[in-house]
Amino acid sequence: MPAFDLLEPRDVLLGRTTHVRRLLPHKVQRTIGAWCFLDHYGPDDIRRTGGMWVPPHPHTGLQTVTWLFEGLGRHLDSLGSDQLIRPGQLNVMTSAHGLCHAETSPGDAPSTLHGVQLWVALPDEHRDSAPPDFAHVDTLPAFTLGDVSVTVLVGELAGHRSPAPAYSPLVGAELRLPRGSVADLPVDPAFEHGLLAVDEAVTVDDETVDRHRLAYLGTGRTSLRLGAPESDARVLLLGGMPFEERLVMWWNFIGRSHEEIVEQREAWNGSGVDFVPGRFGRVEGVDAPRLLAPPLPTVRLRPR
Ligand code: MN
Repeated sequence: MPAFDLLEPRDVLLGRTTHVRRLLPHKVQRTIGAWCFLDHYGPDDIRRTGGMWVPPHPHTGLQTVTWLFEGLGRHLDSLGSDQLIRPGQLNVMTSAHGLCHAETSPGDAPSTLHGVQLWVALPDEHRDSAPPDFAHVDTLPAFTLGDVSVTVLVGELAGHRSPAPAYSPLVGAELRLPRGSVADLPVDPAFEHGLLAVDEAVTVDDETVDRHRLAYLGTGRTSLRLGAPESDARVLLLGGMPFEERLVMWWNFIGRSHEEIVEQREAWNGSGVDFVPGRFGRVEGVDAPRLLAPPLPTVRLRPR
């Protein structure tokens, strides 16, 4: 019996041509710390898929975290941000009470797109009061453990702290493991951790994690022994203090009750596509109608 759970991705179609592998929320584990959403996409040939094309849509109660392994992306939001993102850089948008954004592949983007889209749930005490914010972080802390190179995206790892804004104790990091390498990564035992095998199989404490799987490691570990026996491999590490608040996640909103989601949906949809919602504002510079929220289910949404 393996010492951890292996979470399989499920295939989700975004738009008409873009398939993503959704790993959080997952029926086995809904959150890892405050990390509550993980879509892994690519490597895709954007000449075939059309690339990233997400029209203006809202968020509440969360931070979006964008990280590319390959390619080029463009972020626009209702704060007026218009930002390109490349591998090695991080985009963090703190929606708090309400923001909207759009994501596209610029015309001159390279043909391969590969990355992750993550959400971090904001704790109740911050979700309405945190200032709506967009941060583009160009330079992230990096260090090596033997042959393994580590980049800290969010939070702190082995004494290295990312400048990205965070509202709960958590960590996100990318590790690059050359073929044949083994490294012992010190981690916070109060955190639960998850580890995504991004492109090739890796080992965690000598057990195999196949590519595209997320190993859920729970709490209580002081170090992780990581290896890449077969080929060079990249992993994404997520961790945090177990998030004790129960969430209602529906469409692009995170609330705490059915009524709140109803209110957020009405505030966004308003009277239709041409409505400018005061709570979320407007994304300028994108030639696409905003995405309206679908009808609510006929049953009440329950916190989970
Ligand atoms: Mn979004």
